[in-house]
Amino acid sequence: MISMRTAYKVRAYPTPEQAAQLGRTFGCVRLVWNKTLDARHRRYHTEGRITSYKETDAQLAAWKRTDDLAFLSEVSSVPLQQTLRHQHTAYASFFAGRAKYPRFKSRNGGQSAHYTRSAFKLRDGKLTLAKQTAPLEFVWSWEADLLESLTPTMVVVAREPDGRWYVTFVVDTDEPEPAPRTGETIGVDLGVKDFATLSTGETIANPRHLDRKARNLARYQRQMARKQRGSANRRKAKKKVARAHRKVRHARQDFLHRTTTNLVHRADTIAIEDLNVSDMTNSARGTEQQPGRNVKAKAGLNRAVLDAALGEFRRQLEYKTSRAGTTLAVVDRWYPSSKTCSACGYLLEKLSLSTRAWTCPDCGTRHDRDHNAAKNILAAGRAVAGP
Ligand SMILES: [Zn+2]
Repeated sequence: MISMRTAYKVRAYPTPEQAAQLGRTFGCVRLVWNKTLDARHRRYHTEGRITSYKETDAQLAAWKRTDDLAFLSEVSSVPLQQTLRHQHTAYASFFAGRAKYPRFKSRNGGQSAHYTRSAFKLRDGKLTLAKQTAPLEFVWSWEADLLESLTPTMVVVAREPDGRWYVTFVVDTDEPEPAPRTGETIGVDLGVKDFATLSTGETIANPRHLDRKARNLARYQRQMARKQRGSANRRKAKKKVARAHRKVRHARQDFLHRTTTNLVHRADTIAIEDLNVSDMTNSARGTEQQPGRNVKAKAGLNRAVLDAALGEFRRQLEYKTSRAGTTLAVVDRWYPSSKTCSACGYLLEKLSLSTRAWTCPDCGTRHDRDHNAAKNILAAGRAVAGP
């Protein structure tokens, strides 16, 4: 496993109350750092003894029990413990000759507090810190989906000397080692009834829970449309819609991440069709049929959800293959993948949407519609990707 650390730093806008509470937290962090540093320093020079992290932690607990320092209990204990850990690391680096002697912290410098998992909540894109009730406002500059799927191991709140506030979301991921080349190529035929059929013959079903959530969303949207504009009921309905939307997005992201990661681990080359998503869903409605498009007759999923899923599927495959150093081969969408016999290359004149299986008139091979399409996409993908 390779550990990767990614940090997303954004501007934060605490309310005056939150700023005051964070200010007290910074003060306590600074005090704990400085008092501990002082004690360590004295002990080393008088007794020649090195202080362990555990001893500093016990000292902190003792301080909290004194009248003078009882206020240390009013802020989250996590940033205080984190500062002890940082100091411990700083000392270790100093003794290893990698860093200068740790310095005292001044109230005039930048201030920060580190919150580990137990001390913050990140839900539906809202961040709430320990000892605070309202979420902390911040401006996210990446995709909303990224924030919603983010599972930070740590959140750092900082105030720069110029008074600006920042939140840093630290994400640690254990990435599997790049898999040894499998030599495998997989063709993926995307559909409506099933999410995808692979050239190996496997199908990836549309996740049921996503389907159910999509139906809920559609129902809430209809309910909202019936409410009077500007009414309290409309506002309530709107909230419900927003929540249902988020649930659909979460479920979709989760499903797509699992699916694309699995594909990228399995194959060196993944071949997909270059889908024009709106064409695909148009033809699913039966209005206009694309020549080569193998669209399933019955749509299982809400179409807006499906559109978004297919676009996102490709986007994830693009960045995951590029990160893994593997290939995503995109096949021309006019290529008649459904109507071509994958065994002999015979091209059917016509194949109706409802035909799920057919027999090649030339070579007699019996085809499952989607599996045949996936095999053709695989072959075309090999041609695109080269040897
Ligand atoms: Zn044939």
